[in-house]
Amino acid sequence: MNNYQFADVPTLGILIPCYNEEDVIPITTRKLIDVLNELKSDGLIAANSFLGVVDDGSNDQTWPYLVKTSEEEPNLKAISLSTNFGHQNALLCGLIEFGNLTDCIVSLDADLQDDIGIIKSMLIAYSEGFDIIYGVRKKRDLDSFFKQKTASLFYRFANMLGIRTIPDHADFRLVSKRVLDVLKEFRETNLFLRGIFPSLGFNSKTITYNRDKRAAGDTKYSIWKMISFAIDGITSFSVAPLRLITVLGICVFIFSLMLSAYAIYSYIFLEVEKGWSSIVLPMYFLGGIQLLAIGIIGEYLGKIYKEVKQRPRYIIKEKIS
Ligand code: UDP
Ligand code: MG
Repeated sequence: MNNYQFADVPTLGILIPCYNEEDVIPITTRKLIDVLNELKSDGLIAANSFLGVVDDGSNDQTWPYLVKTSEEEPNLKAISLSTNFGHQNALLCGLIEFGNLTDCIVSLDADLQDDIGIIKSMLIAYSEGFDIIYGVRKKRDLDSFFKQKTASLFYRFANMLGIRTIPDHADFRLVSKRVLDVLKEFRETNLFLRGIFPSLGFNSKTITYNRDKRAAGDTKYSIWKMISFAIDGITSFSVAPLRLITVLGICVFIFSLMLSAYAIYSYIFLEVEKGWSSIVLPMYFLGGIQLLAIGIIGEYLGKIYKEVKQRPRYIIKEKIS
């Protein structure tokens, strides 16, 4: 027994979202169930603590494996979504559905890139009264150069726009029941969890760890998923890009006023042949800015369109517990 035993031992849910993870899910479930058993025998978590898996519409052997394993593993609960809703929605589903059965939830990726050894430190921080404990990776040297650069650019840009994110924190975190109850009140369709948690307040703490390679299988985040994730993250938290258009519009307007004045002046006083570049350049310039502006407005319009429909963010097909 250790010194950190709780007066009231909490029920812990370990949550992992999975999309086509047949290569890694057997390793992950075994390791996480070992962690659960260890924490239970340390007296840190209650006996009804469990591993909760959300299958995000996989079309490989992930779900059959979960069904089979749950027959002999009482600590495994699983939810199958009707189709691929995306990482954030799968996570949200787990937080809401499993949140009803626990005192706190630790979420992490299925590929074991996050150090499961710090789950214990997270629980200790929870016992000290922290409601959100963020896992933050020390260095990203295992990520490709491209991913490192784009990620740091994204965090810097997001920060500039006033979006509170925790740099180098993905979705490895512990959240308490109190936080989960508040999260349920956020009914937006475009959900960027990494931005929402820091905006909730509560006592929070970060714990650093070294990120590992994927235990097996390939990344489920294609470049397009990454780009759309970054755009969603920004546009669902900040209207600064819209403001930027206005500022840009004002600058261009002033500039074109000056150009017009010059054109009138030279028409009257200078007898110069105008080159085509002076006509074509502003055309490109203005055309570019207009397209960009329409694009940004379109992003927000798309968001509003999705929000007003109030569609469910995930659809559960099957549940095993
Ligand atoms: N994932 C998901 N739905 C998706 C894409 C990914 O549930 O549409 C899960 C995936 O199974 C993994 C986690 O989200 O557990 C993170 O994905 P991945 O490890 O591929 O991302 P990376 O670490 O490469 O950014
Ligand atoms: Mg990963």
